[in-house]
Amino acid sequence: MTQTDGQAAIRGLDRDLRGQLPGHTLITDPAQRETYACDGLAAYRVRPALVVLVESAEQVAQVVRACARHGVPFVARGSGTGLSGGALPHADGVLIVTSRLRTLHEVRPEDQRAVADPGVINLAVSKAANPLGYYFAPDPSSQQICSIGGNVAENSGGAHCLKYGFTAGHVLSLDVVTPDGEQITLGTEAPDAPGYDLLGAFVGSEGTLGIATRATLRLTRLPQDVHTCLAGFGSTDDAGAATSAIIAAGIVPAAIEIMDALAIEAAEAAVSCGYPEGAGAVLVVELDGPAVEVADELERVEQICRDQGAFEFRAATDAAERAEIWKGRKSAFAAVGRISPDYIVQDGVVPRTSLPEVLREMGRISAERGVRVANVFHAGDGNLHPLVLFDAAQEGATERAEEVSGMILDLCIEHGGSITGEHGVGADKARYMPRMFGPDDLDTMQLVRCAFDPAGLANPGKIYPTPRMCGERPRIVHAADEPVLEQAEVF
Ligand SMILES: Cc1cc2nc3c(=O)[nH]c(=O)nc-3n(C[C@H](O)[C@H](O)[C@H](O)COP(=O)(O)OP(=O)(O)OC[C@H]3O[C@@H](n4cnc5c(N)ncnc54)[C@H](O)[C@@H]3O)c2cc1C
Repeated sequence: MTQTDGQAAIRGLDRDLRGQLPGHTLITDPAQRETYACDGLAAYRVRPALVVLVESAEQVAQVVRACARHGVPFVARGSGTGLSGGALPHADGVLIVTSRLRTLHEVRPEDQRAVADPGVINLAVSKAANPLGYYFAPDPSSQQICSIGGNVAENSGGAHCLKYGFTAGHVLSLDVVTPDGEQITLGTEAPDAPGYDLLGAFVGSEGTLGIATRATLRLTRLPQDVHTCLAGFGSTDDAGAATSAIIAAGIVPAAIEIMDALAIEAAEAAVSCGYPEGAGAVLVVELDGPAVEVADELERVEQICRDQGAFEFRAATDAAERAEIWKGRKSAFAAVGRISPDYIVQDGVVPRTSLPEVLREMGRISAERGVRVANVFHAGDGNLHPLVLFDAAQEGATERAEEVSGMILDLCIEHGGSITGEHGVGADKARYMPRMFGPDDLDTMQLVRCAFDPAGLANPGKIYPTPRMCGERPRIVHAADEPVLEQAEVF
């Protein structure tokens, strides 16, 4: 489609929608549209041709059907906190914003379920469920602002996903508007529905398979007791070894987080968190469950940490002290702004046992390239969040930081990990997908996308480096593969 075709299509769509939706839902003013030009990854900006602030699932379906009629691409947006450019708009497309769909329809302790609109804020589910003894376990650090729809699309995780798992394990069913505007339900409230796990395919699909308009979520019982402790180590190697030793001892903490010396320095500068002086790394461990079990685990965790070289160990005795321990960790990303004018938040994952080696390699790359890297990560999951520091005002600094950032992802792949642990691929990491997957893998994944979205209108340009037309024959690498690929094409 040429730019002129795209603009003509959007004009036709705009006329169409004005006949169907209340005027206040349609944002056409350029300055207002500009406020939606990026998500949490502000390095990429595209002003959408039209923004629709939908107020019901039916309106989502109306907009998507109109997009299908006019051949206009659309992008879903929840709270816009995504860090991989997943909600980056399309210049000739519609941005469908779900932030007005904020009704929490039900909280049902009797079967541990909640039913939420996609724009409901993650933390709002737990706030409503807490008085009944429950909470929503997936807890991205952005949980005060990110939406359930965004969590579903990104299969988001958080500090406590080591024990409780990612969003995928907490979604039972979804109402979805498919890319041709049909309203369907994926999954059921009863376990183990027959047939393909289409709900599983949708969770984590980053808005490329349709738009979720309602979610039935699994609630988790609040633990009887919670203990949080902090251990100071000389190095990330020792902190990593302690992490592995804790898990090997059969203890599954709710969270295990590591911060290295540079991240500690940033957090101290920002919030004076009082972490052990001179630490090369700190480990934050949270244990939850029945009171007797947790008390026993706390003793064992202290012993393990000391055996692995911890020179200081503190356990919080009340909620205020717990918050004090978490303060440094929770402020770490923003705090890095205190020690560097610019930084890239990278997200990669490795098997937990590779952590010490990967961190050492990362240190080598950092020293070799003269680019500082601060590390704050979900150690239990091996989910790294290296913060690559630079000063964009210095010539070539941005390019060097991006190069180091890419090298870190290569390290993750070399060690059997992945280019994203929880922030998704989006627009930003599509270029890295071929480093992890071969052309056949990428073709096969796109066949799934084509099955949902033959016209390719749902969030185009995301996840895949080279989008493939759905009618197109999959790429043939070896003649011997041909029959297999032909079968795949039928699927
Ligand atoms: C400070 C900070 C800390 C963060 N910490 C974490 C963390 O600990 N763990 C983590 O996993 N992430 C984290 N994130 C990333 C981000 O908050 C999550 O990915 C979050 O789930 C995105 O939700 P959102 O509502 O902002 O989605 P958006 O950014 O609006 O959208 C994200 C993606 O979801 C799609 N989408 C949105 N709504 C729908 C819908 N209803 N149906 C289909 N697709 C939809 C969009 O098209 C886009 O591809 C953090 C971000 C920030 C800024």
